[in-house]
Amino acid sequence: MTIDIDKFIGILEKEVQNYQVPVVDLIAVQTKDPFKVLVATILSARTKDEVTAEASGRLFAKAGSPEELAELDEASLQKIIYPVGFYKNKAKYLAALPGKLAADFGSKVPDSMESLLSLPGVGRKTANLVLAQAFGIPAICVDTHVHRIMNIWGYFDTKTPEQTEMALRDKLPDKYWISVNSLLVAFGQGTCRPVAPHCDRCVLADDCPRIGVTPRKLKQKNVNGDVLRLVSWNVNGLRAVYKKGFMESLQEMAPDVLALQEIKAMVEQLPDALQKLKGYHSYFYSAERKGYSGVATYSKEKAQSVIRGIGDARFDEEGRVLTLEFPTYYFINCYFPNSKHDLSRLDFKHDFNVMLQNFAEDLAKTKSVVVCGDYNVAHKEIDLANPKQNRKNAGFTPEECAWMDSFTDAGWVDSFRSINKEPEQYSWWSYRSRARDRNIGWRIDYFCVDQNSRKKIVDAEIYQHIYGSDHCPVVLDFIK
Ligand code: SF4
Repeated sequence: MTIDIDKFIGILEKEVQNYQVPVVDLIAVQTKDPFKVLVATILSARTKDEVTAEASGRLFAKAGSPEELAELDEASLQKIIYPVGFYKNKAKYLAALPGKLAADFGSKVPDSMESLLSLPGVGRKTANLVLAQAFGIPAICVDTHVHRIMNIWGYFDTKTPEQTEMALRDKLPDKYWISVNSLLVAFGQGTCRPVAPHCDRCVLADDCPRIGVTPRKLKQKNVNGDVLRLVSWNVNGLRAVYKKGFMESLQEMAPDVLALQEIKAMVEQLPDALQKLKGYHSYFYSAERKGYSGVATYSKEKAQSVIRGIGDARFDEEGRVLTLEFPTYYFINCYFPNSKHDLSRLDFKHDFNVMLQNFAEDLAKTKSVVVCGDYNVAHKEIDLANPKQNRKNAGFTPEECAWMDSFTDAGWVDSFRSINKEPEQYSWWSYRSRARDRNIGWRIDYFCVDQNSRKKIVDAEIYQHIYGSDHCPVVLDFIK
């Protein structure tokens, strides 16, 4: 099947008018300044648009020209542009940029591919984007969205963005060269997302061949309004994730109840929007120590009662367990201890696990119980990328796995594994060595339910496409 590219692009040109404009395009339109377009493009690699926009704003407030940029050293640049992805490398490139521009190009951004490629931190993608956006020179910038979507459409079959760029040069009419990147970036962020695209609401759905696509599962028809979407997410700092698109992720996930772990904040340290999340009742249990641990639960329905902790000061001072009672179920949001790199907290963790289990089993005598959160253990070999190498490491020691065995043997149901037996389904990745890009991860975040509630599990998923933390959210659709 060959798609009609004029028809597809014509439809998308109308469609994306209401989408968020990619940040580099915005800066190009607003400033018409090649230097700012170049800097924003360097910052934007592997970084969410809103983070790029904020970092660019901070940087341009101090350095709006190569001469002003030359006044900032690498350490200051790191601080200004953090938390963009690979901020240390990008700070290094930006520190070297004014010198290179002055030496070779009279402190002006050059307008040829060859010259742009000689600048620090500039590859073909960046160079093409600068040529197109800053100079209006026909150039095709191929990022992951363009590469991915063109292959989904079957416009050709290429393996890498470089191959896609060459194929587009041969096949794509010139009139689309400059605009195709912004169009497909906006469309790729808004509808044709990398994971679970919204084919259900896509304007191209009738004609798109959807090559290699697994469309988003629609929430089970909830005719009686009795299926709840429950989401658990270790955010690794609620204030940090708030700056990395948390509200947008919230909108996408649309949870009825949202459990967050490692909020690392006292309530009063949170922005107002998080202290009282719009449309939700907000519950917090922070650790006594500032900037450490802590959990928060947001619920559309007001809880009948709230239990903070499990009745042992050793654990409760760390703000690890927050329980909400609803008419038909208890919702336990739990941040299980980490046994630590040297395993010095293995006993502490085991004591906590046993106590938590007793606590949950007491509650399960009266109604359904959901225990969600960061369990800090990968249960079985299938639940981490390198089981053999990690057998003696925190999170996969025989002791920790044995407790998880005893927990499930006692009847607690790991909702995700009750539905999905596939490997490579992870919820946490180290920040080191591009582990998330390579999917070298661990599944350590769970929704478990008591054995009598197994039949209430409708669906369970891991939202690996949602970023902002070293964990991603896990989801349970549950009959209340
Ligand atoms: S139908 Fe699905 S795969 Fe095709 S373009 Fe639309 S969202 Fe993408």
